[in-house]
Amino acid sequence: MKREEALAIVRKQLKEQRYIHTVGVMETAIELAKIYGADIQKAELAAIFHDYAKFRTKEEMKRIIIEQQMPQDLLAYSPELWHAPVGAYLVQTEVGIQDEDILQAIRYHTSGRPNMTLLEKIVYIADYIEPNRSFPGVDEVRALAREHLDRALFRALQNTIQFLMDKREPIYPDTFHTYNDIAQKLK
Ligand code: GDP
Ligand code: FE
Ligand code: FE
Ligand code: FE
Repeated sequence: MKREEALAIVRKQLKEQRYIHTVGVMETAIELAKIYGADIQKAELAAIFHDYAKFRTKEEMKRIIIEQQMPQDLLAYSPELWHAPVGAYLVQTEVGIQDEDILQAIRYHTSGRPNMTLLEKIVYIADYIEPNRSFPGVDEVRALAREHLDRALFRALQNTIQFLMDKREPIYPDTFHTYNDIAQKLK
């Protein structure tokens, strides 16, 4: 699928600001794919579709998580987590993208997971550092991302967990599992 076609499809699913974010993620993911030798077309498509399900209702996402037998523990945690696995499903069934590498990058873009693929890491980091993001610590991760992808990933996870803890938010176990996995690999 060509970039323009993919962007036109996703644009209909998103509000203006979220679409602008998506274009930023796409550009950043392509840049990182070039640096780290990932498949550029896959990085582009995964980034374009990563937030495809962002504006689906909680009811629809919950129904899909149950009917498609996704990890049911998702339902005990923040609905903010749901658009990632639900997005992977809808991009497959509504858009017709069958490439598992792309679908996994969409599925794990919010929580991460242990043993992430290069493409998954690229989409996760691109989502975090794209140019429209501004929050404490983002510039540090932006610089790290161009030098050492795993260190950038580790810092992003550290920041995310810290941020959620400061808000007294429950933290999804996969987020911790991703953190632990990278922490052990960086030792
Ligand atoms: P976005 O869709 O581009 O806004 O970014 P993400 O998909 O990466 O994250 C969506 C939201 O999920 C953000 O507000 C994160 O803080 C939140 N989030 C990420 N991991 C967790 C987690 O483990 N637990 C909870 N409760 N929220 C999380
Ligand atoms: Fe997202
Ligand atoms: Fe993210
Ligand atoms: Fe996003």
